[in-house]
Amino acid sequence: MYYFTKALAPEIKAFSFCQNKTCYISTGIDTSINLLTFAAPNLHYMDIKNVAVIGAGAMGNGIAHVFAQNGFYVSLIDISQDQLNKALSTITKNLDRQLSKGIITEEIKSKSLNNIQPHTSLASGVKSTQLVVEAATESVELKLNIFKQIDEYAPKECILATNTSSISITKIAAVTSRAEKVIGMHFMNPVPVMKLVEIINGYATHSEVTTTIVEISKQLGKIPCVVNDYPGFIANRILMPMINEAIYSLFQGVAGVEEIDTVMKLGMAHPMGPLQLADFIGLDVCLSILNVLHEGFGNPKYAPCPLLVNMVTAKKLGLKSGEGFYTYTSGRKDLVVSSRFAK
Ligand code: NAD
Repeated sequence: MYYFTKALAPEIKAFSFCQNKTCYISTGIDTSINLLTFAAPNLHYMDIKNVAVIGAGAMGNGIAHVFAQNGFYVSLIDISQDQLNKALSTITKNLDRQLSKGIITEEIKSKSLNNIQPHTSLASGVKSTQLVVEAATESVELKLNIFKQIDEYAPKECILATNTSSISITKIAAVTSRAEKVIGMHFMNPVPVMKLVEIINGYATHSEVTTTIVEISKQLGKIPCVVNDYPGFIANRILMPMINEAIYSLFQGVAGVEEIDTVMKLGMAHPMGPLQLADFIGLDVCLSILNVLHEGFGNPKYAPCPLLVNMVTAKKLGLKSGEGFYTYTSGRKDLVVSSRFAK
């Protein structure tokens, strides 16, 4: 065991630099000047091969897929056997698509599938793992409860990562007995396609743990980007106010759904307009992240638009509920504006 010191920035500053395909960003809000000491994990983290992914939903199946495809042994854990079955069939379909495009070989496809072991019990799924990536439903109570259990059942050297979009890493770490080994590993949707992994250092995350997660992200063929733990991190702190502003523009009658999305697609070269993207992410998820930003910073600029609140209350959640700003019918690929917003 050895100790190290970590000096925090003495004043508000913002800087970023990119090195070895890793982008480090300091949002620099740490005004507390201090030398903190943390116990170093003192482990051979570079040898990680066994990974447990908790939650087999949209993100969990993608995360399990990329780890398995890159030679890691994955325990995929969900409380629902049905979700596990669906996840395995989605992974098979996505591997088939990669195979048909010549991205992977038949051998990699079958190795990837063999590398995944489904579990409905968290205790047995994490018992011999070296890294946990939690991707269960976005709920503070649920995640705190899951992390208490992982802390109890996973080996004491194991790194505990979370794919949360907005919940404080420091808060999650605080319910464990190993805050220095807790970190954010925020993959983007769809995971097998999107290159970014936003890595979030909690207040106590050890630098050795960060280095390990950076290296593992690279082994997955991703581009890691390290940021600090403040509400929304970087991705959602910037994305969600834009989505909220797009919803406000619709709410105030500045323009219609198609016009707002077209301006942003053609004018800003965004591949998808903000309203369509909100539907894709899930309007409930957008609302919950905006609430985290609003409460976390105490700044009214993050207050969710009343139209968004109404749509979530009415269960118009976007793609997953079949209707949001657009209407989604299975088999149809063209974009149809919801009748609520049609002109
Ligand atoms: P999802 O609803 O598709 O899947 C969540 C899964 O968690 C479900 O299969 C559910 O059965 C499972 N689950 C719930 N409680 C559990 C428990 N106690 N133990 C094990 N499994 C449990 O959600 P998702 O979209 O995959 O999001 C998962 C996480 O990823 C969230 O934290 C979310 O914020 C984050 N995230 C989502 C996106 C996105 O675009 N959907 C992008 C980045 C990050």
